[in-house]
Amino acid sequence: MLEESECESDFLLTDDFNALYVDVRDRYFSRNAEYWPVFAEPGMAHIIAGRQEGLEDDDRLKAYPNGEKLYSRIRQECTVPQAPTIPCPENKDEMLLFAGTLCKNWENPASVENVITMPCDPAIYGSMIGTLSNPNLVYKEYCGMAEDLERYVVRQMATLAGYNPAQATGIFTQGGTFCNLYGYLLGIRKSMPEARSYGMGGTQDYRFINSKGGHYSNTTNLSLLGVNLKDKTIRIKVTKNNKIDVKDFELQLESCFRLKSSVPCIMLTMGTTDTFGVDEVKPVYEIRERLCEQYGIEVLPHIHVDAAIGWSMLFFLTYNFSTNPLGINLVTLHGLERNVELFRQIRYADSFTIDFQKWGYVPYTSSLVMIKNKNDLKALENDPENFSYFEDDMQGQTHLQSTIECSRGGSGLFGAYAALKYMGIEGYQTILAHCLQNANYFRHRLHEFEGVKVLAYDNQGPSVAFRIYNPAVVQSPKDEFKFEYEYQHCEEYQSRLQRNSLWHRDIFLRRGKVGLYTNWVEFICHTSHDEKDRHCYIPGEKAVFMNPRTTFEDIDAYLACLIV
Ligand SMILES: *Cc1c(COP(=O)(O)O)cnc(C)c1O
Repeated sequence: MLEESECESDFLLTDDFNALYVDVRDRYFSRNAEYWPVFAEPGMAHIIAGRQEGLEDDDRLKAYPNGEKLYSRIRQECTVPQAPTIPCPENKDEMLLFAGTLCKNWENPASVENVITMPCDPAIYGSMIGTLSNPNLVYKEYCGMAEDLERYVVRQMATLAGYNPAQATGIFTQGGTFCNLYGYLLGIRKSMPEARSYGMGGTQDYRFINSKGGHYSNTTNLSLLGVNLKDKTIRIKVTKNNKIDVKDFELQLESCFRLKSSVPCIMLTMGTTDTFGVDEVKPVYEIRERLCEQYGIEVLPHIHVDAAIGWSMLFFLTYNFSTNPLGINLVTLHGLERNVELFRQIRYADSFTIDFQKWGYVPYTSSLVMIKNKNDLKALENDPENFSYFEDDMQGQTHLQSTIECSRGGSGLFGAYAALKYMGIEGYQTILAHCLQNANYFRHRLHEFEGVKVLAYDNQGPSVAFRIYNPAVVQSPKDEFKFEYEYQHCEEYQSRLQRNSLWHRDIFLRRGKVGLYTNWVEFICHTSHDEKDRHCYIPGEKAVFMNPRTTFEDIDAYLACLIV
């Protein structure tokens, strides 16, 4: 079932691309001690060898020398050793290596469970340098040159995103959740500066706006900030492709302004976790400008974009789509081109979230909140009295007074710097295109199965979510999904939805883990809303193609057992 304009070969690998991909994989994702001598250290080499055996997760413990005994020790021992252990190369600690080897193996080509990846070799090397030098980014005196390295990477990302690197700023922080927290906080401090001392219950009425397609950190952050989620948060509807409904957004924003309610922050998402819906920032920006002008709103709502996964598409903003130098296959090339049109709009955001630890292949934790206008950080400054144990004349040079954290580690920053440096834009383009080619191949092959409905088929992200229906009772998966999508508040609807979900869930469990370790998600999408705004979640199966080592062969092995 190809779209009219697509043909089979549009999904396959070109020879040119494959040669580039193999180079990138071998140089940057293979733990090769010839390129990266740190991997020759005996303990590291032990862990790398153990993880490269490619055993199924469940078999790894059994295969590990002395595994059962170590497993029992790790669960039972409870004392610190009395005597020191003398360090020497032969005296590797068993427990350390056991735990390191048996952490979840993201290097296994079958690992596609979620938005999690093996880090690249240069980022591991970079992070280790950062660990060795141990800067504390809280303050110049405690981090030295790392502060300048942070500014350097921030300028690089500003340039990629289309921000003015002289005007932008950014903060490395612990995870995308914290980046989004900064987004909300920037909005609060700009719109309601009195909240710093008096909290959110002041005299001014307010509403936060985000989308129903947003990540759960939207909710955890607002709740953490003391926001009444039910009455003070407006979650905008999403379209079928999981993008924010711009019309509904406009209606809601205008209602807020009409009722004299301030809107500290509008949180958009570029690249939703399960279906890669990409919100359009430019129309939201234009509506904000127009309505603020019309209603005389002085402090504009802060627009933060959660691009925790999506930011990686920024590497393609300068790609030459007409000459296609990497030889990316046609379907993926066109998909990327569509993404690029959307991601160009990120420059309209006042701030956005970057997770290097996701589709940037940097070890945990490595996230960066980017801020278009460095003056915005002034709004976050706390009372200088709070910082009396830092020297006054050093304080002005850092973000010390504006950060949520006190100590900030540097390993994520060093890892990000090294990944960018060694892989360069082209190395990233190659590995990202590889992932999307896998995702497109998977979507296309799934689409050919009787009974399978692929969600948001046109969204060009690494995640592929789908539902499998029983062909004996469901004639057209497309129509069945359409039925499920249109929410009805009745018993018949609920039981049909449940019947379908249970059938798929049963297949998922019976299939076990073959080829790809997909996972089950309780909601891969929302239904539409009825006239009383009621709706529900639809569950399904998901694979996320961020793994540089997954190939078409792994996908074929999985598909051969899809319906058992
Ligand atoms: C993963 C994710 C987050 C949270 O990021 P962490 O780094 O896990 O804290 C936020 N938003 C989106 C869209 C994500 O995919």
